[in-house]
Amino acid sequence: MRPATLAIHAAAPAREIGTPVTPPLVTATSFHTDPDAIGFSANDLGAEAPLFYTRWGNPTVALLEQRLAALEGGEAALAFASGMAAAAGLLLHRLSPGSHLLLGDVCYAGVAEFAQETLARYGVSVSTVDMSDPGAVAAAMRPETRLLHVETPANPILKLADITALAGIAHAGGAELSVDSTLATPVATRPLELGADWVVHSLTKYACGHGDALGGAVIGRAGGIDALRKEAVIHLGGAISPFAAWLILRGLETLPARMALHEANAGAVARFLEGHPRIRRVYWPGLESHPHHALARRQMRNFSGMVSFSADGDKALARQLAARLKVWTYAVSLGKAQSLAFHIPSEDVLRASFRLEGKAAQAYRDWTGEGTFRLSVGLEDPRDLIEDLERALG
Ligand SMILES: *Cc1c(COP(=O)(O)O)cnc(C)c1O
Repeated sequence: MRPATLAIHAAAPAREIGTPVTPPLVTATSFHTDPDAIGFSANDLGAEAPLFYTRWGNPTVALLEQRLAALEGGEAALAFASGMAAAAGLLLHRLSPGSHLLLGDVCYAGVAEFAQETLARYGVSVSTVDMSDPGAVAAAMRPETRLLHVETPANPILKLADITALAGIAHAGGAELSVDSTLATPVATRPLELGADWVVHSLTKYACGHGDALGGAVIGRAGGIDALRKEAVIHLGGAISPFAAWLILRGLETLPARMALHEANAGAVARFLEGHPRIRRVYWPGLESHPHHALARRQMRNFSGMVSFSADGDKALARQLAARLKVWTYAVSLGKAQSLAFHIPSEDVLRASFRLEGKAAQAYRDWTGEGTFRLSVGLEDPRDLIEDLERALG
């Protein structure tokens, strides 16, 4: 089955007469059991174990996991309470004192801060590198490097990284590659097919699509996901609520259709901004002017709905847009039906989140200028989105 069909039918229960046609929401936290069925320790959890306790497994959550695995072309998936729970759980699971994490120099701020503060406190060494430059990545590998973690496109500036090249570098050095594919979605890119070992998602974004549920996921090989489930969900405890899983399952049904519209609307908005005198630079992977457009054409079947731009005098412009926009909403997050705009000052994020200095900080400033306006282009009529921007920029 192809993605649009998988999003609706993958892992659907057998069509028995009298069973529900759409996924049931099972809110129960425990399940009928018997003294011989399963032990009390998470170490007894096997593939054949019956349902026992919802933090270990739940029918609604399991369907979400199976559908995500099918969409990503992976053996298994594990759902989490949020994207941060997924990323933090995976990093804690794969790294130990003495090991080295090579992290993209631009990635979700929470992941950057978690790595540099918490992982460092647990004895993991963390360094950052421009993942768009495979030569720099190869040079940054150390004998103790265990994991490369990259986002492509990277939030918020939308630079890309070549997953096939990074997988080659990671594996040659005895490390694994994990790819946060939240902005791409499986509609655009399937990192496991390009050699990645793990895919991370914030399901809060495009997968849910409506901005009303938090969730996260990791997709990978079956044995790896089993071990991750025990440590990162059963023991760390960041299990997704069945209700959130049910909302995200509903959102996933329309993910391929929504992504086609997000892409078309983002293209229209990006081209409008490119021609606007107030704007300095516009970044959308589908624009010929994007520095990584050639890679985007190879690696993305859909250029997604995120657009970023920079402009001079940008703090004043941020206030002006927040006050004047009527169709766009000035708010964080991304990937929902409603269009969102948000401004991220460069110096703040360089200091507080990415902790870049010297050449790496300068490369960020060269890309963004004083700051990045991050647009999550939604599903409204693109003419209304453009007219609203034109009026507010005016
Ligand atoms: C939002 C986001 C996260 C964190 O996800 P939450 O669901 O908010 O915890 C991680 N990575 C990327 C790329 C994101 O956009």
